Amino acid sequence: MTVGKARTPKDPRRPVAVWRSKELLDGDVAGALTIILRTRGCRWRRCTMCGFAAEGMIVSADDLIYQFRSATKGLSERVVKIYTSGSFLDEKEVPSFVRDLMLRELSAAGVERVVIESRPEYVLGATMDSVASAGPGIEVGIGLETSNDIIREHVIGKGFAFVDFQEASRIVHASGSRVKAYLLLKPPLLSEGGAILDAINSAREARPFADVLSLNLCNIQRGTPLERMWERGEYRPPWLWSAVEVLLNAPTPIICDPVGAGARRGPHNCGECDALFAQAIRRHALEQDPSVFDGLECSCRPLWEKVIELEEHSFGTPLV
Ligand code: SF4
Ligand SMILES: [Zn+2]
Repeated sequence: MTVGKARTPKDPRRPVAVWRSKELLDGDVAGALTIILRTRGCRWRRCTMCGFAAEGMIVSADDLIYQFRSATKGLSERVVKIYTSGSFLDEKEVPSFVRDLMLRELSAAGVERVVIESRPEYVLGATMDSVASAGPGIEVGIGLETSNDIIREHVIGKGFAFVDFQEASRIVHASGSRVKAYLLLKPPLLSEGGAILDAINSAREARPFADVLSLNLCNIQRGTPLERMWERGEYRPPWLWSAVEVLLNAPTPIICDPVGAGARRGPHNCGECDALFAQAIRRHALEQDPSVFDGLECSCRPLWEKVIELEEHSFGTPLV
């Protein structure tokens, strides 16, 4: 569900990736450890932009515990994100006794917030009660992507409806835990302007059901239908101008990690200004202050504006 940093070679005893960063925690900036556990992976595997199917392999409960303990050795962070390339709450990916053991160990280590991810169908009352009692300050990230059922179902292939997200959110909140809703900026087939409107609209509609929003800027993952579209010139990742436009118009708190910013496969502007934009977007995630975008200017802005204007009539085919 999430987009990660450098991946390790496949090994049942090594997590897919581990990295440290800063995270907003109840208004403070806190250290965060992110672990992507190597599991069998997502059972859905049908989303058009997702390349996580390649990361799965058969692992035992022992392997999972070994991965977790090696990644959390010397842990001092207040926030820990335990992700898989799928759903942490799927019993077939992470058995419940392994899951709860990890959460209890994080609780004993003084961690204040644990962020996990799941598709809505694994968010069940009994599961959430057990998770919430084992772990400290649980936040469940759900890849809603968009509040538009037609785009989610027919363009992304996500396989659940907005009402399923709402029901999962109700269950998470009933257990006393928090909800993070992931939104995708620029699903395939949307024009640049259409994608901006969809993301802003989705943020506004999802916010009542989510404690925090997380904007994912679409990037091209290997072996996906989206990669084939991109190779044929039928898709361009979102402009960073568009990401800023969404962040300025969406309800807060909204975070965004511009993974791959500036790369051809990642969100990008002209090449000259990408690093500055990425820096401002990262600052905004920690400060939630729109003024971090003041003064961001580049000669590519008129081109981005023209793309938005002309793509309205180009049936979703990118112009630049
Ligand atoms: S639900 Fe979709 S986006 Fe999430 S891991 Fe599975 S295939 Fe990928
Ligand atoms: Zn530029």
